[in-house]
Amino acid sequence: MQAYTYISEGKFELVEKEKPIIIHERDAIVKVTLASICSSDIHIKHGSVPRAVPGITVGHEMVGIVESVGAKVTHVKPGDRVTVNVETFCGECFFCKKGFVNNCTDENGGWALGCRIDGGQAEYVRVPFADQGLNKIPDRVTDRQALLAGDVLATGFWAAKISEIKEEDTVLIIGAGPTGICTLLCVMLKKPKRIIVCEKDENRVRFIKEHYSDVWTVTPNVCEEFVRKHSEHGGADVVIEAAGADSTFRLAWECARPNAVVTVVALYNQAQTLPLPDMYGKNLTFKTGGVDGCDCEEILCLIAEGKLNTEPLITHTYPLEKIEEAYELFENKRDGVMKVAVECEKRHD
Ligand SMILES: [Zn+2]
Ligand SMILES: [Zn+2]
Repeated sequence: MQAYTYISEGKFELVEKEKPIIIHERDAIVKVTLASICSSDIHIKHGSVPRAVPGITVGHEMVGIVESVGAKVTHVKPGDRVTVNVETFCGECFFCKKGFVNNCTDENGGWALGCRIDGGQAEYVRVPFADQGLNKIPDRVTDRQALLAGDVLATGFWAAKISEIKEEDTVLIIGAGPTGICTLLCVMLKKPKRIIVCEKDENRVRFIKEHYSDVWTVTPNVCEEFVRKHSEHGGADVVIEAAGADSTFRLAWECARPNAVVTVVALYNQAQTLPLPDMYGKNLTFKTGGVDGCDCEEILCLIAEGKLNTEPLITHTYPLEKIEEAYELFENKRDGVMKVAVECEKRHD
């Protein structure tokens, strides 16, 4: 089968590999229908994910059809249409039982797919702990509608969930890339009084204005002043930082009112400073970290009910044979790209 592979730093290549097989009784093999490219894939390509193992197939955001299951898999069966979760988790350890699946202590736990083990920008993928990692897609939800459920939408859902948003709140979201928009969609479900999105890229601002006309947008240079002016208590009640640029961590806590929650879902290239003397008395609560992607079932229900829709984010589609072009477009943010869908099913023409 064809599999897009991390060869060495700076180099991914579509190579021919053996179709994966079940190696553990909790595994499933999934025939990938659609995969997507995530900015974490770009981080792997450029060597900034030291855990990534050269030779592995990349890709950790995909949907497909269950091809076969191990003896101990009970929640899914061959023929089921499923989303694949970015996290691999056992469901049994201390952290899994508390819902902190990103910290699963199993040796394969955490972000393994497309990083430490073969991922899904390929025709087939082996998914460990299939009962935890796969969720059945409801009949009325299409593959495209479900494509982002296991990673970037799960991240947005988790960010909104932990941010303690109330109906009277002004919520500031920094960054309107795919993670920022998915966060926005999930924040909208909490119905806060006002949502402000801070973004400097014109295409992304236009995207928000076109699709979410109730949301206010602002550019970083005037963000603090704007937020102060449009919130009741001298700053946002909740700030979610989803940009990860050099100045956005500072912007996040500066725009927060005293006693606000500041949730950081961004991934930075460099260490950030926490200037405690400057924020003394502001009594902020910081929440940080990587997604605990264990809400996919709820996310899929919300998609089925028409309450969450990430389809507008999928701006481009490529067949697996042309994945190189898809990466080039995504990496260089050309043509207003948000997310790319990669069709992995072999064509019979
Ligand atoms: Zn990702
Ligand atoms: Zn676990």
